[in-house]
Amino acid sequence: MTDITRKIALVTGASRGIGRSIAFKLADDGFTVVVNYAGNASSAAQVVADIEGKGGQALAVQADIADPQSVARLFDKTLETFGRLDVVVNSAGIMDLAPISTANIDLFDRMLATNLRGSWLVMAKAAEELQEGGRIIALSSSVLAKSFPGYGAYIASKAGVEGLVKVLANELRGRNITVNAVAPGPVATDLFLEGKSDEQIQSIAAMAPLERLAQPEDIAGVVGFLAGPNGGWVNAQILRANGGFA
Ligand code: NDP
Repeated sequence: MTDITRKIALVTGASRGIGRSIAFKLADDGFTVVVNYAGNASSAAQVVADIEGKGGQALAVQADIADPQSVARLFDKTLETFGRLDVVVNSAGIMDLAPISTANIDLFDRMLATNLRGSWLVMAKAAEELQEGGRIIALSSSVLAKSFPGYGAYIASKAGVEGLVKVLANELRGRNITVNAVAPGPVATDLFLEGKSDEQIQSIAAMAPLERLAQPEDIAGVVGFLAGPNGGWVNAQILRANGGFA
């Protein structure tokens, strides 16, 4: 049974990594959580089961955030099921690395489609559907400040996200809806770890003065703050949660 007094949060990319931790944090904070995923239905179902196992309420919904019809179905399903929407977190994202070269234009298009077009679509739909007092939280990255070789497409996509956050905050004037981004440094998830040697991981982990990789929970706590009662006066900001990485 749906409890109409509970606040509803939609988290994209919540089957794994940072998004999964955000889903758990928001569920612990009393939100009903819509757990979006792209292809990993069993992981998303496990996230829902874990939340329900702790007495929370959650629903897994498949959607490709780069596809407008898919994003529309995700929001429709959320509103049909729960009747309101208070928080939207866009954590879904991909990171493929390659130099800026004509040969890598397909990679650039793929990265921009998920990370930037997807952010546009999710944030736009959030702007249409959120209740008064709502919160929109996007994921950027602290790697913007590093300009590492190979990160061109990823950094371009996240720089775009940071631009969208500030413009949308202005466009929502008068609706009491905040729009912010959290920009993590390196976090120990598939996205960061895959394809790197132990040496590469250690050397990147050592870059921050706190000398470790973030765990997804480090980032979920920051998102929980922005989504919760103490985060309401933070608006149009990029919170760099990175242990001092940049
Ligand atoms: P993971 O690779 O661990 O998880 C990615 C998640 O996004 C999965 O749930 C995946 O679903 C989902 N996803 C991927 N593409 C789509 C799509 N087109 N539509 C819907 N869902 C999709 O990544 P992280 O948790 O590490 O990253 C989360 C966010 O944080 C990203 O935006 C990333 O850029 C950002 N970030 C990550 C950092 C890091 O070091 N990890 C650092 C800075 C920023 P499925 O399981 O179904 O494939």
